[in-house]
Amino acid sequence: MDTLDRPHGGTHEVLNQPPPLAGYDVAWHDAALLEGVRREGAGWDEDRLRELGRLAGSDEAIAWGFEANRHPPELRTHDRFGHRIDEVAFHPAWHALMSVATANGLHGAPWRAPRPGAHVARYARFYVWSQVESGHGCPISMTYAAIPVLRGRPDLAARYEPVFTAAAYDPVLRPLKRKRAALCGMAMTEKQGGSDVRANTTRAEPGGASTYRLTGHKWFCSAPMSDAFLVLAQAPGGLTCFFLPRVLDDGTRNAFRLQRLKDKLGNRSNASSEIELDGAFAERIGDEGRGVATIIEMVNHTRLDCVAGSAALMRQGLAQAAHHARHRRAFGALLADQPLMLNVLADLALESEAATSLMLRLARTVDLAPEDSREAAFGRIGIALAKYWVCKRAPFHAAEAMECLGGNGYVEESILPRLYREAPVNSIWEGSGNVNALDLLRALAKQPEALAAWFAEIETARGADRRFDAALASLREALAHGEPADARRLVERMALLMQGALLLRDAPAAVGDAFCASRLGNDWGAAFGTLPRGADARAIVERAWAEWVS
Ligand SMILES: Cc1cc2nc3c(=O)[nH]c(=O)nc-3n(C[C@H](O)[C@H](O)[C@H](O)COP(=O)(O)OP(=O)(O)OC[C@H]3O[C@@H](n4cnc5c(N)ncnc54)[C@H](O)[C@@H]3O)c2cc1C
Repeated sequence: MDTLDRPHGGTHEVLNQPPPLAGYDVAWHDAALLEGVRREGAGWDEDRLRELGRLAGSDEAIAWGFEANRHPPELRTHDRFGHRIDEVAFHPAWHALMSVATANGLHGAPWRAPRPGAHVARYARFYVWSQVESGHGCPISMTYAAIPVLRGRPDLAARYEPVFTAAAYDPVLRPLKRKRAALCGMAMTEKQGGSDVRANTTRAEPGGASTYRLTGHKWFCSAPMSDAFLVLAQAPGGLTCFFLPRVLDDGTRNAFRLQRLKDKLGNRSNASSEIELDGAFAERIGDEGRGVATIIEMVNHTRLDCVAGSAALMRQGLAQAAHHARHRRAFGALLADQPLMLNVLADLALESEAATSLMLRLARTVDLAPEDSREAAFGRIGIALAKYWVCKRAPFHAAEAMECLGGNGYVEESILPRLYREAPVNSIWEGSGNVNALDLLRALAKQPEALAAWFAEIETARGADRRFDAALASLREALAHGEPADARRLVERMALLMQGALLLRDAPAAVGDAFCASRLGNDWGAAFGTLPRGADARAIVERAWAEWVS
C-alpha cells in the first residue's frame, strides 16, 4: 500500500476524540425545556417540538448553520445595467433555515392560530431551532414582534397580517399583495442615537390621510431583504411609527436604499445594513408623536426573543461541553468523572436551566397578559429583568463551555466560536444593558402594580430556602433606596431571585439548592466551576444532559 493511501499517512491512529454531537433530538435531552413546556401550558406541542428537535440535531441542519455563516450575505446595490436594485443575496443554507423557521410558525403561529399556550409553544420551538443557527432568528423575531404593532392599524392588519403570519417562505421582493408570505423588520437606530430614539432626525412629510414620505437615514437596519419595516421618523406632531413597504402596490421599489452591510463580530449569516430613505412612501401607525409608545409593543417581544436566543446559546454550549466531557479522557479518566470538570459542567447547567425556565415562564405572560392584568404587570418587569441578566450571562457561559473542549473548542468546526461571537449581541440590541436597567427603575417608580405582581410571583417560593428568603428580605431594603447608579445591582438581584424562585418551585432539589447556595447565598466564585462543596454536581449534570446516563 502506498504511504499516502494509509490512514493519516500511517503515522498514527485517531484516539480519544469524541464523536460529533449530531443525529440527536435537541429537545429530548433538555429536561428543563420539556418540563417547562408542560408546566407553562404548551404540553400539547411536545410531538411537534420533538420533531423540530430531531431536525435541529440532524447532520443536514447542522451543516446549514455552518454554511450560512461561512458564506455571509452579499450586498447587490445595482444590476448589471446600472439600475439600483438594493438587494442582498444569501446562501441557499440561509433559505433552508428560514424555510424551516417559517414552516414551524416561529414568526407568526400564535397570532395566526391562537390557543392557550401558543406563545409558550412558539418560544420553545424558537429556542430549539435557534440552537442550529442564531442569525436567521433576527428576521423571524422581528416579524413575530411586528404583528401587535400592525394591529394598531386594523385596515393594514386585515390586509397584511395573513401574509406576515403565513407558514411559508417567499424571499422574492414584490408587492405585498402578491406575496405568499412576507417578513417585517424595524428601523429605529440612527447614527446620532440608538437608545435615545427621540433624537431621530428622519423626517416624515404628510402626503394623504395617513400616508407620508420619509427622508433620512438609519444606521442599523437588520434583515434588509424584509418586505416591510416599522420605522420611526419625525412627523409634524413628533416622533411617529410608520409601516414602510419595500415594494409598492404598482410594483415599483420604494425609495429605500442600502448603503452598505455591517461587518459584524458575529450574527454573520444575517445581513445588517445602513439605509437611506429618500422620500419613501409609508403609512402611519398610531398617532403622531406616539412613536415610542406604539413601537414598544414590538420591542417587548423582541426583548423576550433575546432571552430565548441567549438561553438557546447557553443550552447548545452546555450540550457540546457535556457531550465532549462524556467522551474525552485525560490523565486516565473521563473528563466527566473528574470532580473539577463536574463542577464546571454543573455550574453551566444551572445557568442554562435558570435561563430556559425563566424564558418559558415569561412566555406564559405573553399568552395570559391580554386577559390577566397581573400577568401583564409581572411580564412588564420580568421581561426587562430577564433581558438584562440572561443576555449578560451568555458570553461568559459560551467562553467557559468552549474551554471544556480544550483546543477543539477554539476551532470553528466545534460551533463554540460561533456561539461565542453571537453571544454579546443580545445584550446590545433591543435595549442595551444600562437602558434595560434604567427601564426597570422607571417601571418600579411608575407602575407599583408591576412590582406588586412581581413580589406575588416570587413569594410563592418563600420558605423553601433560607438563602432565598434572606436575599428577598434584603432586596426589599435595597428597593427602598434605589438610585440610577444602583440599577444594575438591583436588576441582577431581582433576576436571580426570579430564577431562584422558579428553580426552587419547579426543578429537582439539587438544582434549586445549588442555585441558591451559589447565586443567592454568595458561596460562589467569579468564574463558572466554583459551586460550593455541598452542591450535587453529578445530579445536576445528569439532569441536564441525558446522554450522561448511559
Ligand atoms: C448586529 C446589530 C443589528 C442591529 N439591528 C438593528 C435593527 O434592525 N434596527 C434598529 O433599529 N437597530 C438595530 N441595531 C441597533 C441597536 O438596537 C443599537 O445599537 C442599540 O439600541 C444601542 O444604540 P446605539 O448603538 O446608538 O448606542 P447608544 O445608544 O449610544 O448607547 C451606548 C451605550 O450607552 C449606554 N447608555 C445609553 N443611554 C444611557 C443612559 N441614559 N445611562 C447610562 N448608559 C446609557 C447603552 O446601554 C450602551 O451601552 C442593531 C445593532 C446591532 C449590533
